[in-house]
Amino acid sequence: MAIATTVLLQDFNLRNTNQREEILEVFLDHNHALSHADIEKQVGNSIDRVTIYRTLKTFLNKGLVHKVLDDAGAVKYALCKNTCTTSEHQHDHVHFKCVKCSVTSCLESVVLPKINLPEGYEKLESNFLMIGICEQCSQAPLS
Ligand SMILES: [Zn+2]
Ligand SMILES: [Zn+2]
Ligand SMILES: [Zn+2]
Repeated sequence: MAIATTVLLQDFNLRNTNQREEILEVFLDHNHALSHADIEKQVGNSIDRVTIYRTLKTFLNKGLVHKVLDDAGAVKYALCKNTCTTSEHQHDHVHFKCVKCSVTSCLESVVLPKINLPEGYEKLESNFLMIGICEQCSQAPLS
């Protein structure tokens, strides 16, 4: 059991279970947004779909991960940075989808400007997806 995941779960007042640690480990290993299917692939047969689904929901509610909307229509999840709490998700950053490697990642350093909504509108969450070629792919030699 990795120390990082144990501490992280404790920070968010989550009981440690092997499944939670394992799923968290997958996020820590990848550092980009993952879909339900991606996680399933990573954990193999050790965790069933329903448990993965429930665990993601718990992580989402606790402010451990946030939703990332992909252009493929699939919901992905990415680890929140330290700014999120159980009661409030704090991130207005850009998500970047690479057309070459299909990886969607959080660009935490690119902060969205404050958007003023017309009166009567209330923001619950926002998603900004940019599509292009990521750093790694743009540096890769042409094959
Ligand atoms: Zn968050
Ligand atoms: Zn790429
Ligand atoms: Zn993000």
